[in-house]
Amino acid sequence: MACEISNLRRMPSMRRTIGLQELEGRVRDDLRFLGYHPNNWQTARRGKNGLYQVVIIGGGMAGMAAAFALLKVGIFNIVMVDQQPAGKEGPWDTYARMKALRTSKKWIGPSVGMPSLTFQSWYEAQFGSFAWELLRKIPTHLWMEYLSWFKKMLKFPLQNDTKLISITREEEYLKLELSNGTIITEKLVLATGLNGFGGYIIPDFMQHVPKSHWAHTNEQIDFAALQGKRIAIIGGGDAGLDAAGTALEQGAKSVDLHIRRKALPVENVTIGSNFVLSNGEYGLCSDDEKDEIFRYIFDTGLSPPNESLLRVEKFPNFKLHTETDFEKILKNFDFYILATGPAIDGSKQPEIAPFNDQVLHWGDQGYNHPKVAKFPYLGKYFEFLEKEKGAAPFLKDIHCFNHASVISHGGLGSGIALIGVGAQLLAQGIRNDSFIKTTKNEYLSMFRSKISHSLEELEYQLPQ
Ligand SMILES: Cc1cc2nc3c(=O)[nH]c(=O)nc-3n(C[C@H](O)[C@H](O)[C@H](O)COP(=O)(O)OP(=O)(O)OC[C@H]3O[C@@H](n4cnc5c(N)ncnc54)[C@H](O)[C@@H]3O)c2cc1C
Repeated sequence: MACEISNLRRMPSMRRTIGLQELEGRVRDDLRFLGYHPNNWQTARRGKNGLYQVVIIGGGMAGMAAAFALLKVGIFNIVMVDQQPAGKEGPWDTYARMKALRTSKKWIGPSVGMPSLTFQSWYEAQFGSFAWELLRKIPTHLWMEYLSWFKKMLKFPLQNDTKLISITREEEYLKLELSNGTIITEKLVLATGLNGFGGYIIPDFMQHVPKSHWAHTNEQIDFAALQGKRIAIIGGGDAGLDAAGTALEQGAKSVDLHIRRKALPVENVTIGSNFVLSNGEYGLCSDDEKDEIFRYIFDTGLSPPNESLLRVEKFPNFKLHTETDFEKILKNFDFYILATGPAIDGSKQPEIAPFNDQVLHWGDQGYNHPKVAKFPYLGKYFEFLEKEKGAAPFLKDIHCFNHASVISHGGLGSGIALIGVGAQLLAQGIRNDSFIKTTKNEYLSMFRSKISHSLEELEYQLPQ
């Protein structure tokens, strides 16, 4: 492990600006040769009467991959919105506290099949291919820098500082109330990340602790303000350990990490989680098999990454406590950090709650593990399905391209490895629907009238 850290340190500091300029030229050429150039989609924002064909909520990695895949299949009349200011989308520059990504540098991310848009090509253009060989894992700040470059190259139609408030049905369309106005769309893609289907878990025992005394790891935390304080972390996953590491590095008096289990999970379920997250063949599993995999992952827990353990173990003022009864420690510390992970519960997501009862969930299909049951049971193209057939047909126009898709689709809608593959599937589904809804009949009637016309002409010319 010491080797991983030293490899990070060996990252070259000299950047070749010319290399990046050359790459940007290559990207523009690649887009041009394939027939799609951002200049085309710059002009094609709205359809008739302000109607969008697709609205994407979320300008993070999944939202960008979805937008690129849609543009690639010729759907230009789209808009993306993100509640965060520009450059702060996703966790990378806000609440991701690990120094480097946890996953392989080779996972190709949102580039949707275009080699010049991968992280590797961006990195090599600036630091060279030898530096790429030496790099073990991608530093988190560089990953965010790369995503910003990706966004710049593709000139996405993204509106920042705009939050989705509610979704209602308006005739055959969806009406979206945003924090700064209302828009109408045929299709909606929820690329809202880990917290997009119920926020994060706040255990009941926290309700008597004032908010000024606690934060969730998925929030921004002012660690400088926690200097000299006694901090308790509740939960021992990677987010908990990275929050502990950050607090210790920034001068906390002590950090006590509490878990309910007898020990930190050490059993290696990485194979299971890697299979889900980085193997497109997960989709070939039956529902029973998917349920089996996830019950196992949820019950066993994932062992935290070694880097995160090494980060805290060198601090004498760090302690790990097992089998904690959390309620008993609630008066002992100055500040609590909940590392309790994302909640999956559509009834807690304000824009989904009004129709969550109509959405088909894994629980409705007989999969009753408490952590599995509330996941939406999605269709082939990430669309919500109806619990009762015919009761809520608008659900098929809402595509859940976020972490809540993970039991239905594995890593296709979540995580760096397969997001580009998932985005292509999503875009194809949206394109298919649009073809069936509008263009197919137009084509067929043109085709039929042409045929009959030709036959008439033919008959006319036939010798009597
Ligand atoms: C700390 C951390 C570390 C991770 N490390 C890795 C890793 O090493 N490798 C890996 O493969 N995966 C990792 N992941 C998992 C996953 O890759 C990330 O969560 C990634 O950010 C997912 O991209 P996304 O676009 O789905 O979500 P996000 O990047 O979270 O983007 C979602 C966007 O939606 C916006 N949004 C949400 N709700 C609304 C709303 N109502 N209105 C408007 N905008 C909204 C948010 O502001 C956000 O910008 C990590 C996740 C976390 C949290």
